[in-house]
Amino acid sequence: MKCNLKFSLLFLTILFVACTNKQPETAKQKTEPTFPKGDKITNNNFTGTAWLQMLITNDSTYNTSIGNVTFEPGARTNWHKHPGGQILLITDGSGYYQERGKTAQRIQKGDIVKIPPDTEHWHGAAPDNGLAHIAISPKTNKGSVVWLQPVTDKEYGLIGK
Ligand code: MN
Repeated sequence: MKCNLKFSLLFLTILFVACTNKQPETAKQKTEPTFPKGDKITNNNFTGTAWLQMLITNDSTYNTSIGNVTFEPGARTNWHKHPGGQILLITDGSGYYQERGKTAQRIQKGDIVKIPPDTEHWHGAAPDNGLAHIAISPKTNKGSVVWLQPVTDKEYGLIGK
């Protein structure tokens, strides 16, 4: 009898600890961005509001620049091309990637986009959702990004139609 009481108390104690140690679901789901959002982009190479944090600045050892770019809904790059190509790692939200003459591709968190050298394209957020990506620009010794004209509201509005 005494023994049973001991085990009951032990069981209740374990149950109590197990229950009170449980993290609230919201605390688990809320995550902070891995890299800083950086500064608002103020040049004319973007439409809408976008942010840039350089993570790796180009140098002659790596010939690579890496930046974290965050687009607010509707924001996008101008048309442009990279002499050494580019790789995008989509880290949050959803948006679009389009090569000149091709249909825009939907991109979202977890996607990886490989952009061939000297290929005109743009990337940016969906009209109703933000987008964040890490942009890796390799082989910078072949030349730096060539900026072209903005993606017009008409071009942007044609997505998915
Ligand atoms: Mn690009």
